[in-house]
Amino acid sequence: MSKYEAVDCEETKVRVHEYLHKELQEPEMEAITAHLANCENCEREYDIELVFNQVIQHSCDEAPPPELAERVLNRLREIQNHE
Ligand SMILES: [Zn+2]
Repeated sequence: MSKYEAVDCEETKVRVHEYLHKELQEPEMEAITAHLANCENCEREYDIELVFNQVIQHSCDEAPPPELAERVLNRLREIQNHE
């Protein structure tokens, strides 16, 4: 018996942002950690989010304009898809 509810890909993608910011409760954090460890697609999604955060934090003091955020995300997805 696991102590947390398993999450699926859909759920993980929805929560990956909060996960990254540690805004989830412990059981959810564990569930998503477990899912990421076993799912390449979601791990990739997590990596994108992680890199995206770093890029934004390094390049902007304030929250980036939505167009920039969108452009950076698209670029990161392109890079990931070509690997
Ligand atoms: Zn998944």
